[in-house]
Amino acid sequence: MSTQEQSAAATTQTQSPDVVVVGAGTAGCYAAATIARADYDVVILERKTEDEAGHIACGDALKGADSFPEAIPKSKLEPAFTNTGVDHGRFEIPQEDTVLEIPIPGELAVIDRWEYGRRIIEGAEAVGVDFHYDTVVNNVTQTDDGRVTGVEAIRKGEPRTYEAAVVIDAAGSLSVLQDHVDFSESTFDTNVNYSHFCSAYREIVHVDEPVEWDDALVFKPTERAAGYLWYFPRTDTEINAGLGFQMTEEPMKLVDDLKRDLENRPEFAGAEVEDKLGAALPTRRPYDSAVHPGYMAVGDAAGHVNPTTGGGIAGAAYAGKYAAEAAIKGLETGDVGEKTLWEYNERVMDHFGARYAALDVYNILSTAIDVDDLMGLLAAMPGEKLAEALYSGSTSIGPKLAAESLYNSRGHWGTIWNFFQTKRRADDLLELYEAYPHHPAALEHWQERRDDLMEQVYETTGADPKY
Ligand SMILES: Cc1cc2nc3c(=O)[nH]c(=O)nc-3n(C[C@H](O)[C@H](O)[C@H](O)COP(=O)(O)OP(=O)(O)OC[C@H]3O[C@@H](n4cnc5c(N)ncnc54)[C@H](O)[C@@H]3O)c2cc1C
Repeated sequence: MSTQEQSAAATTQTQSPDVVVVGAGTAGCYAAATIARADYDVVILERKTEDEAGHIACGDALKGADSFPEAIPKSKLEPAFTNTGVDHGRFEIPQEDTVLEIPIPGELAVIDRWEYGRRIIEGAEAVGVDFHYDTVVNNVTQTDDGRVTGVEAIRKGEPRTYEAAVVIDAAGSLSVLQDHVDFSESTFDTNVNYSHFCSAYREIVHVDEPVEWDDALVFKPTERAAGYLWYFPRTDTEINAGLGFQMTEEPMKLVDDLKRDLENRPEFAGAEVEDKLGAALPTRRPYDSAVHPGYMAVGDAAGHVNPTTGGGIAGAAYAGKYAAEAAIKGLETGDVGEKTLWEYNERVMDHFGARYAALDVYNILSTAIDVDDLMGLLAAMPGEKLAEALYSGSTSIGPKLAAESLYNSRGHWGTIWNFFQTKRRADDLLELYEAYPHHPAALEHWQERRDDLMEQVYETTGADPKY
């Protein structure tokens, strides 16, 4: 060690909580609150300042708020719910000159995302979570046999080391922590590529006159199939307007494309833009395994987003809870190995991971299909069945409805046949994910079976392999 390094090491402060959580987003706050409630010491490290924390790029649509984990009570979040009157999606299909109104199952709120962000932080603080803001994690420490023992960070310009029995990586999409961990001794999923992500951008726009569609989430395809624009009403005069595209495509000029669409909509004449943010979000299957000795990844850092809607808040909250409960078990038994933490993977797959993996099949199909054909087909499909498919990963259509849909969709039968075959592949995949292994040693065999099914998905859809 050089003299310079020695003096840096001497001045590096070290802290040793039971658990370190990186990232004060939804996954991090729910994980830390769950751990603090079990009376363990937990610190959240957040790169943003205290004022900026919680300010995260989002479409502001919160689905499933009625059944969020209790570590942060729902009553804490409710003041951030600015519109609870949304009950359907409005799909604008300019190619077909059609607007589809599709019911949205379950509870949905459009929220003020920054206010929500502050409130989950307050909720975690209230149960004893310690927050270190302005703290950028830039390395992960490991023992010789690979167990993660903590992280290194720069806090307000000064180096800091945090030692902990468990590190929870809640640092969001493309988490930098995963670049630093040597995962060779575990099953942690490292098959992650930028093309599994969507690049998205949103503005908060104020209009003078109330919009007519304040009870709907408005969606519109971009000129390419693998992208869409959205208009989500926070109130009838405050709209979250945004768009995104799958990173397999040529990059879109997000700011210009949104501006062009806004200019073409009369309801936005004279509108004022208040806030602009962009980010990447995973639109892929969940990680096959998000555990490694002493370490778990949660939320966007483990691909816990519905890959067809881009909704990731609910998945992040639950992943945080499940990882925290596995960490608590590790702390209680003194064993934070992969086998002890494995239950976390199983609970994610059981709750939403299997469903998201099946939905990813339709995402893969959308990269291979002609956009006009897809829109024509959507316009011909029964709305409630589309909604079911979008959220549950599967749907069934009775003979009468099928006959009507077939009549309406003449001209798109080739695509329908493709869809039908794809749905069978998605159902097979769902079944396999429902039999996700109970221990790490069985993962490899399960992955081989899954990869065989994925081969069939690529064959059926004609899409390039995604994984
Ligand atoms: C444009 C856009 C629109 C979206 N719209 C919706 C929507 O309408 N509804 C929905 O449910 N989901 C939506 N999502 C997805 C949703 O925002 C995410 O799935 C969700 O926020 C994931 O939560 P998280 O806690 O895993 O990560 P994040 O919310 O991203 O939190 C990660 C935190 O980690 C911090 N961090 C990162 N790196 C470091 C580091 N090295 N050191 C310290 N701190 C670090 C970040 O500053 C951040 O605070 C959208 C995403 C985008 C990008």
